[in-house]
Amino acid sequence: MNLVRNITGNQGFHSITPKAIVIHWWDDPSKRPTLEGVVSWFHNPESEVSAHYVVSGNIVVQMVDENQRAWHAMSANDYAIGIEVDPRVPDGTYDTTAELIRNIWSRYGRLPIMRHRDVPGVSTNCPGTLDVELIIRKAQGGDTPMLDENYLRAFWLDLFEIEPTAAQKKQFIGKPALEVYNELRNSNARKEWLAALARVRQEAKDAKVNAAKVKELEEKVVSKLDELLAKVN
Ligand SMILES: [Zn+2]
Repeated sequence: MNLVRNITGNQGFHSITPKAIVIHWWDDPSKRPTLEGVVSWFHNPESEVSAHYVVSGNIVVQMVDENQRAWHAMSANDYAIGIEVDPRVPDGTYDTTAELIRNIWSRYGRLPIMRHRDVPGVSTNCPGTLDVELIIRKAQGGDTPMLDENYLRAFWLDLFEIEPTAAQKKQFIGKPALEVYNELRNSNARKEWLAALARVRQEAKDAKVNAAKVKELEEKVVSKLDELLAKVN
């Protein structure tokens, strides 16, 4: 999977919590839509459409951050990550889409996959002839994605509400993403950490301390997270 970031202004600029993934096709394959054409259309303010990801072959173009609202599926825009897939399915397209889905699952758990036409209230044949069942089978059966720096950072902000430290990166990069995510999510380390962080933030609020002092307090608890994580794995 070759991930390229190319962020568009065609988005809501307010945050969402992903609860589903919606699969689209670009268009009828007989119209010969191209990757460049689709990306350019999603940048065009007049189109008023976009998606989080566009997939063709082994290329994935990210056009909207996962926690932001893209314009792809009407009512589902408030809770769904949109993936636009090349309808001519060049080599690798289904595998890449499946890998992208596993990658998203590793951050949010196994979100349900919907076809665009399954979204309530829409009238479309999208995603047309795409074999969405095959994509789901591949996503469920494939190898677990390994954590790299980007995945880890997305995890970390979700789980611990702070950036990972160098030591924490070293501990987890290269490990299987889903397993690590689930283990950390359910760990006592996370519970204790979030409680400690909440206490520090409350203390700082009560004492009306300045920004430097807040940072000092937070830094003190960051080492606590390292201690807690030392017991994981
Ligand atoms: Zn669609």
